[in-house]
Amino acid sequence: MADVIPYLDLAAQYRGIKSEIRAAMDRVLDTNAYILGPEVKAFEEAFAAAHDVRHAVAVNSGTSALHLALLALGVGPGDEVITTPFTFIATVAAIGYTGATPVFVDIDPESFTLDPSKIEAAITPKTKVIMPVHLYGQPADMDPILAVAERHGLHVVEDAAQAHLAEYKGRKVGSFGAIACFSFYPGKNLGAYGEGGAAVTNDDRYAATMRALRDWGQTERYRHAMKGYNYRMDGLQGAVLGVKMPHLDAWTEGRRRVAAAYREQFEPAGVALPKEMPYARHVYHVYAIRVADRAAAQRALQEAGIQTGIHYPIPVHLQEAWAELGYRRGDFPHAEQAADEVLSLPIYAELTDEQVARVASAVVAHTTPVRPGQVRADG
Ligand SMILES: *Cc1c(COP(=O)(O)O)cnc(C)c1O
Repeated sequence: MADVIPYLDLAAQYRGIKSEIRAAMDRVLDTNAYILGPEVKAFEEAFAAAHDVRHAVAVNSGTSALHLALLALGVGPGDEVITTPFTFIATVAAIGYTGATPVFVDIDPESFTLDPSKIEAAITPKTKVIMPVHLYGQPADMDPILAVAERHGLHVVEDAAQAHLAEYKGRKVGSFGAIACFSFYPGKNLGAYGEGGAAVTNDDRYAATMRALRDWGQTERYRHAMKGYNYRMDGLQGAVLGVKMPHLDAWTEGRRRVAAAYREQFEPAGVALPKEMPYARHVYHVYAIRVADRAAAQRALQEAGIQTGIHYPIPVHLQEAWAELGYRRGDFPHAEQAADEVLSLPIYAELTDEQVARVASAVVAHTTPVRPGQVRADG
């Protein structure tokens, strides 16, 4: 039998950069710069430049970045933050950490991102922030989101945890909202060798506040101007990310090459493939097709030696942890349908043409497609 094609292969990426990584880690270990330090600072500058923003504040996870972004904008108990229920739980957890209440708006079934036409109805006098998620690496439709935010005097925070180097109408994500947040969890498009994240902004005050908050609220040593957190990035993670940063463009191109090859096979076969919206440069953190009878499809692919994933099987409004919000099945039909149908295929720069062809033909052979927006008769 042919080798198994893993959903993700971080060892393959490491083989290509091993000597650079070892040298960078040695620099940290030889100088004891374990927390923040010059490697982290250099990475912050490179990451900000790559996204055409003035400041990047490196922290210990994407979740911490989201938490600090909301705090810097003054979000707290009694406030509401509008976001999508079809996301990783961390988006909503970060809102909860501030004491604010998450308010959900359904997705557009073609893009899997927040439906801008449904936001206005969810705004109340308590709304402070709209937090779109650039899910799977495709930017949310920012122009109408920014327009509704402006009409109501709201801030926008981009959850760009899955969208490093993605573009909306030719411009990199990261500066559409007041603040944008990225994750460097190992499996993300730019991954540390542990936890990591960053908040980016063009606003000097937000950047200064987040720098203080990540480091116990210190504005100078042992002077605590605000109640802060231990959210600093490790020196080793900064060194790893600094090595990886110059490769990110090529790795992103590699993901797009795989997506293009899948499209070539899937379009004629009628597979319900992900749509790259006309305004988007998708970076394919996740390549999710829609299938009928997903459990059977996933089993058949597993038997054909192809690992897949599900991002995400339960929308946040139906998670037990958030039952207190009082949502029920039927509240966000597009998010619920997506959660039932999506199936994520392997997508990374190290996949060979032969592997991509094997995945594609197995998908065509073993799955039954559904069409986005095709709402089931049983609702
Ligand atoms: C990964 C992720 C986060 C959280 O990032 P961590 O670094 O894991 O804390 C937040 N939002 C989305 C959409 C994510 O995919």
